[in-house]
Amino acid sequence: MKIYGLTKTTLLDYPGRTACTVFAGNCNFRCIYCHNFELVTNPERFDRKDEEEIFAFLEKRKKILQGVCITGGEPTLDPDLKDFMIRIKKFGLPVKLDTNGYMPGVLAELIDEGLPDMIAMDIKTDRKRYPKLAGVPGLDTKRLEKSVKLIMESGIDYEFRSTVIKDYYDDEAAHDIGKWLSGAEKMFLQGFEESENVPEKGLKPCTKEEMERFRDILSGYIKEVNLRGID
Ligand code: SF4
Repeated sequence: MKIYGLTKTTLLDYPGRTACTVFAGNCNFRCIYCHNFELVTNPERFDRKDEEEIFAFLEKRKKILQGVCITGGEPTLDPDLKDFMIRIKKFGLPVKLDTNGYMPGVLAELIDEGLPDMIAMDIKTDRKRYPKLAGVPGLDTKRLEKSVKLIMESGIDYEFRSTVIKDYYDDEAAHDIGKWLSGAEKMFLQGFEESENVPEKGLKPCTKEEMERFRDILSGYIKEVNLRGID
């Protein structure tokens, strides 16, 4: 698998576990708020790590690490993702997969093979505003709906998560997302951090009060909804 970055230890990326995180490059979205846009559009500018380097690191840290998180970019675009996950499982560590959910076929295969131990899928906004926020005109939301269904029916631990951005999240969006994910186990609403490094300038976060209201709306549809990274 093509790996463009490694976080050696994280307590945040894999809930409940001390983990490391590996970064895939490339993405089939061009989210206007993406904090990893350079990795998405120009992965070759990053130092590529080969798998042997990653497994040598895992071997060294095997007493500490309790899992591996695979994030990106979008990992499901890499044709070697499955083999990489098999290798991690054989090594003896559970794997969490972060995905934008736009490759339901790949996700189905990985789930069928019993590879991810946890999946986190982004739910960026309501289905109407998705193409604009994801930067993909003509984006087919049916593909996302398929992934949501697959994940919810998989029996695997999962979470859905939204980075909440002003003008892309409101009561209407929360109701649309709630209906879409109705019956889901877990969702997190994350604050947007303003940054000069994202492709669209001037994007703003929502206030804590607004986020709490969205949480309350979503809680009418989803079993557990929490805010993450909000003081
Ligand atoms: S799906 Fe994730 S990695 Fe891809 S462009 Fe959007 S925020 Fe960036």
